[in-house]
Amino acid sequence: MKTIIIGAGPAGVKAAETLREEDKKHEIIMLSSEPYPPYSPPAMVQYFLTGEALHYWRGQDFPELNNIDYRQGCHVVSVSPDMNEIELESGEKLTYDYLVIAAGSRLYTPVEGSDKKGIHNFKSLKAGDELLAKVRSGEVSSALIVGAGFIGVEVALMLKKMELDVTMLVRSRVMRSMLDPETSTFVQCILEDREVKILRGDDADAVAFPGDNAARAVQMKSGKELTADLLVAATGLKPNIEFLSGSGIETDWGVFVDQYLCTNMPNIYAAGDITETFDRLTGERYSHANYPNAITQGNLAGLNILGYGLVYDGSENMNSMKHLDVPVIAAGLMEGEEIRLHRNGSLRKLWVKDNKLVGCRLAGDITGAGIFINLIKRGVDISPIRDNLSEPNFCYTHIHDTALMDNVIPS
Ligand SMILES: Cc1cc2nc3c(=O)[nH]c(=O)nc-3n(C[C@H](O)[C@H](O)[C@H](O)COP(=O)(O)OP(=O)(O)OC[C@H]3O[C@@H](n4cnc5c(N)ncnc54)[C@H](O)[C@@H]3O)c2cc1C
Repeated sequence: MKTIIIGAGPAGVKAAETLREEDKKHEIIMLSSEPYPPYSPPAMVQYFLTGEALHYWRGQDFPELNNIDYRQGCHVVSVSPDMNEIELESGEKLTYDYLVIAAGSRLYTPVEGSDKKGIHNFKSLKAGDELLAKVRSGEVSSALIVGAGFIGVEVALMLKKMELDVTMLVRSRVMRSMLDPETSTFVQCILEDREVKILRGDDADAVAFPGDNAARAVQMKSGKELTADLLVAATGLKPNIEFLSGSGIETDWGVFVDQYLCTNMPNIYAAGDITETFDRLTGERYSHANYPNAITQGNLAGLNILGYGLVYDGSENMNSMKHLDVPVIAAGLMEGEEIRLHRNGSLRKLWVKDNKLVGCRLAGDITGAGIFINLIKRGVDISPIRDNLSEPNFCYTHIHDTALMDNVIPS
């Protein structure tokens, strides 16, 4: 059997790893547009700050060790399911028995002129290398970051640690999709303490990158222009589905998959940021672009290619912020009854609905995060510990109910 995996991020790597663990003879080809060994984006900041190659989290020799025919710098331009064939940019065609589409996502910029030269991003290692080359050229002392989502905040902190004068344009609020307004303000204060300048509201509503050959500034809705030595767009993500156009593989925002992570085409699976699955708690169609979902989906796609027939139980809204020097963890929903504890410089918030814990946002003191996440995932009745949840050092010792204890132990 031969499987081709398009993409060498966490989802593609996990699919390959699972196939190899279970079937030593399976022929695996893994392709990546980028000219690097397989890497994990969450470790990029650490790599650029320390030089330690932590982003090669499975080792640079992962392909050789796992007997994978790995081709880097190899961009897939089309898929022909009727012929079980893909085409590379070079014109070469490759056939498969199974295909895993794990091509991830890229920067999404609704700001006009965002394809101009001079606009950097931090969505991939290639983009990160280009951004850092500019910083290290010594020509840069200030940076302007458009967008305050998770990646925008990571870049801001990284550039601040590199001693740049950093300004962030925040149209609504910091990490809006990940945090409730109060935790968002809490994180904004930490950023300001780190001397990241924040511009919010109408003053921060970017509409265009003016400039003839290259972007020279960011233009606001008000008409005002702001500039800096380094312009960075961190305005959102978009699944890399363009190469699937004309293939018959069903897509909307991302690639549609069924309960086995199979697309509408037989033997073609999808995993990771490129998929449009459903939220585990709400059941709504959604793309939660995060590492744990990419790993779970890559694993499941691999197992289902091998015939396990396992059902996917939905993706998690989950993330953590590593570089604030204050831990921040977010999981699940921000709706229902709110339990709040603000003390000793920490903010802990939980949401309970129908006697189930549905979400948590913890900043500073993150004790009990693992327990909360397991309770959210498993959707069990938390009545026996409802009154203990707001205790500052909530942990396993607060759980006296045996059935509940079984549900918080990591599986
Ligand atoms: C800076 C940064 C920090 C992050 N930090 C966190 C974090 O702390 N926690 C967390 O949960 N998540 C984090 N994420 C998100 C997480 O990295 C992604 O959810 C995860 O990488 C998705 O994995 P993936 O394999 O689906 O896609 P990707 O990692 O995007 O990999 C896609 C792969 O597909 C390749 N590719 C794309 N198009 C083609 C094509 N046409 N042909 C061939 N190859 C192609 C790419 O080269 C790449 O190898 C972070 C992301 C970034 C950018």
